[in-house]
Amino acid sequence: MMINEVVVDYRCNKYCNIDFTLAKRKTEFYNEFREKHPRTSNFYRYVRPRKSIENKKFRKIYNNRCVYCGVSTQVLPATLFEVDHFLSQSECKKHSIENVNYIDNIVCACSLCNRGKSNYSCSNDYIELLHPDKNQYPLVFERDKRYNVKIKEVHLENPDIIELYRVLKLDNELRRLDYLIMELKDFCTIHSDDKLASQIKEIIEPIEQHRRDNSI
Ligand SMILES: [Zn+2]
Repeated sequence: MMINEVVVDYRCNKYCNIDFTLAKRKTEFYNEFREKHPRTSNFYRYVRPRKSIENKKFRKIYNNRCVYCGVSTQVLPATLFEVDHFLSQSECKKHSIENVNYIDNIVCACSLCNRGKSNYSCSNDYIELLHPDKNQYPLVFERDKRYNVKIKEVHLENPDIIELYRVLKLDNELRRLDYLIMELKDFCTIHSDDKLASQIKEIIEPIEQHRRDNSI
């Protein structure tokens, strides 16, 4: 990467600048959690139940978005956002990570991403790069002018990245549709005083409904 090169996050459009730098907010949340539950090592158990306060706070840290594909509650109902283990139990064992339910291994994902990568296997060399909390994904994936998510050229030969791209189904047409809906909705929010915005809203409403009815 060239110095000063601006890295565009494929999960964001030009009308919104979502902050995927999670470390500070996650640490604050975890410290607060530890004060309330000093003895537990199973963070996952508290965060997973959809109606728990911890779950709501956790999703908020992730901007109510899937950390992998970027889809948000602007498009999908909150019930389709899940608390995901980045590495499965068997993968944790392989990498000598003792606690699969520790906060560092827990992220927020949409159900399509979560189910796809359930048994994703990553070599040790790329765990740091491919952990979604490390905010390296914009260096790995990019979105082209036709809204397709692609692997960046520099990683096209990397089997760990190719496999992650495949299991996350980042080439699925729904990814493009979700991005388009979010971009149009953000445009309408920014231009809310403009007549055009209300017309666009009317146009996308049936598309949004169709997406929600076919959500997985
Ligand atoms: Zn997703």
